[in-house]
Amino acid sequence: MRKYLVAGNWKMNGARRGIAELIGSLKGNVPVSVEVLVFPPSVYLDQVRADLEGSLIKLGAQNMDWRDQGAVTGELSSSMLKDVGCTYCLVGHSERRQLFAETDEQVANKFKACITNGLSPVLCVGESLEQRNTGQTMEVVARQIRAVIDSVGIAGVGEGIIAYEPVWAIGTGESATPEQAEEVHSAIRDLLSREDPATAENVQILYGGSVKRDNAAALFEKDNIDGALVGGASLVSNDFIGICQAAANRMEE
Ligand code: PEP
Repeated sequence: MRKYLVAGNWKMNGARRGIAELIGSLKGNVPVSVEVLVFPPSVYLDQVRADLEGSLIKLGAQNMDWRDQGAVTGELSSSMLKDVGCTYCLVGHSERRQLFAETDEQVANKFKACITNGLSPVLCVGESLEQRNTGQTMEVVARQIRAVIDSVGIAGVGEGIIAYEPVWAIGTGESATPEQAEEVHSAIRDLLSREDPATAENVQILYGGSVKRDNAAALFEKDNIDGALVGGASLVSNDFIGICQAAANRMEE
């Protein structure tokens, strides 16, 4: 059985003191049956690693460069992130694809660098509103995943996590319905299954896009939704704990 995972993407938010308070209230209050992880801004990774000591909450970075070292001013490599205590990294978040013009090929390179250096990549995929309205959802999602399969093979995909995040649902307050999300999650699992059924069965597929404590339980009811990637609500401890608790309740059913 796949474990539930709830991840908080803090994006470019927070400052030293507030982050310490947030970690302080998450520690000891998130259920231990669920995998929980946070993606702070990189400049605070080392602080959060220290603040998380004694807790099962894992640490991830929001982005990295696929090169390992050298003349790449302003960037961070997966081996550096591993060195400061990260075990996960987001790759291909839609904000990076949109604001920084990241291509499928670059995202695949990042995914590959992560697994080479012992980080679990969380591969974000998802369609825009226009793509959904013109019936291209699965075509877009399949293309984004196919680029990674072509780079690392299906076994490599199995070393990471997939997050389905429809762009129109991110930060808008308008989540996909559980049915809309499940339709895409199940199609993703079918796509992976055509390559390798065991990988398809084991890989965690998270939903992201305006997940809140009051809609999480309904999303987690669906067979192919294995947790959530949470943006805005991960900055408020009670909201994030509520989402983790909804996953724990589902595991107990
Ligand atoms: C995200 O940034 O990955 C996200 C899902 O944001 P929000 O929960 O705020 O929609």
